[in-house]
Amino acid sequence: MKAEHIRVRFAPSPTGPLHIGGVRTALYNFLFARKLGGTMILRIEDTDQNRFVAGAEDYIVKSLAWCGLDFDESPEKGGPHAPYRQSERSEIYRKYIHQLVESGHAYYAFDTEEALNLAREQAKQNGGNTFQYDQITRKTLQNSIALPEAEWKKRLADGAPYVIRIKIPENEQVVVNDIIRGEVIVNSSNLDDKVLFKSDGLPTYHLANVVDDYLMKITHVIRGEEWLPSAPLHVLLYRYFGWEDIMPQFAHLPLILKPDGNGKLSKRDGDRLGFPVFPTEWKDPKTGEIYSGYRESGYLPEAVINILAHLGWNPGTEQELFTSAELIQQFSLERVGKHGSKFDPEKAKWFNHQYMQRKSDEELSILLKPYLEQHGLSPASGYLDKVIGLVRERASLVPDLWNTSWFFFIRPEKYDPQVYQKIWLPGTTGWIKDFAREVEALAVFNKDTLHTLVVDYTTKTGVKMGQLMNPLRLLMVGSNQGPGMMELADVLGKDEFLERIKTGFEKLNL
Ligand code: GLU
Repeated sequence: MKAEHIRVRFAPSPTGPLHIGGVRTALYNFLFARKLGGTMILRIEDTDQNRFVAGAEDYIVKSLAWCGLDFDESPEKGGPHAPYRQSERSEIYRKYIHQLVESGHAYYAFDTEEALNLAREQAKQNGGNTFQYDQITRKTLQNSIALPEAEWKKRLADGAPYVIRIKIPENEQVVVNDIIRGEVIVNSSNLDDKVLFKSDGLPTYHLANVVDDYLMKITHVIRGEEWLPSAPLHVLLYRYFGWEDIMPQFAHLPLILKPDGNGKLSKRDGDRLGFPVFPTEWKDPKTGEIYSGYRESGYLPEAVINILAHLGWNPGTEQELFTSAELIQQFSLERVGKHGSKFDPEKAKWFNHQYMQRKSDEELSILLKPYLEQHGLSPASGYLDKVIGLVRERASLVPDLWNTSWFFFIRPEKYDPQVYQKIWLPGTTGWIKDFAREVEALAVFNKDTLHTLVVDYTTKTGVKMGQLMNPLRLLMVGSNQGPGMMELADVLGKDEFLERIKTGFEKLNL
């Protein structure tokens, strides 16, 4: 027997930027497809015109590309089942919805928004149950089941606005087989008659999603847990279309939770709690509000992928850092847990630090380059390598490279007054002047000769090591930050070392 060809899809709605929960769904689809030699599809589910946000599709495509997730079939790339944008497929859904109406599994409903709101109000007043359009209520509402045939046909002929709803059966057990959760059984009496097709001639998510999964020959639907409540409805649709035998397998991924575990990580949590929840920065086209992104905050895509891989999946071993090839090789849906995973911002940084440390000096210099260019700097590559060598270990995020190294390229303009207050003793100016004179006389200036000089000087004068080093650091860097003083001086070189003492004294009026 020929092995089944795996086909999965990531099916975002372009209603805004892609939250990392969505990126994780895309990632798990990607890993699953790549591992099994399957096909990965991007389908844009844009049938809800009211929720359409300009720029969102472009954002989704570009931010996933930044994460290294690519597609075999997509709106951009095309493919055997094009178009891959649902708004361009409306004729297809029209045909299928009529099939359901004809087989008696869907019906026309003419209820206005006001009438439905009224029904909701009344339900509230009569005992607090929320109103559902379902097996019971449909009998009293304006639809092709409750109205006489002549009446609803006339309304249709007159062009009255309508929607088409699914006719949920009474008291049937609907079974959703989920790879992650096992059998999920729901009694159909608890389901409502969801709208499948709207008066604007476009389908709702449910119809379009099922029809497209069928037409695009999707074998596995891997998506977020928030879609689990819709799955029984989808199973019924497969049944009514006669496609149950080739229904895809479902895998509903657990939620990503807030760091304290209280509820789903939301798009506002990130900026509120100080970490990004979007892969790349997003500017809301309506409000102009900016939401920070992993890329702009200085995360590496490989770290983001690893952070997300571990939020739901576990390899079953102690291994934490994976190359993308290793993730592909080891990923399985069987190892995705049922329970939500808390997002841990510190762990996210830790991941990034690890991936930064795996980069070569050359790769890190490439990451530092934009900052240098921004300041009009073009240091010699040998110099750059030395600097990178000194600062790399402390860099967790890309901007750390610049924040911990800028003083190698630019002389400080300011000197931290608090540090100055604390370390500058009555004798300091004199000690530094004496010491500088001795440095000037050095024939060879490097960290070893400097070290010897410092030891000699402190022994000779009784000045403590710190009493010499701390002021020197303040003069070199402008603060008490930076790598070891000897290494710092070594890289700066003798002339610059002395120059910084001189300009520092001038600026501090000493
Ligand atoms: N369009 C849905 C979403 O935005 C897709 C859900 C699914 O994968 O079935 O998440």
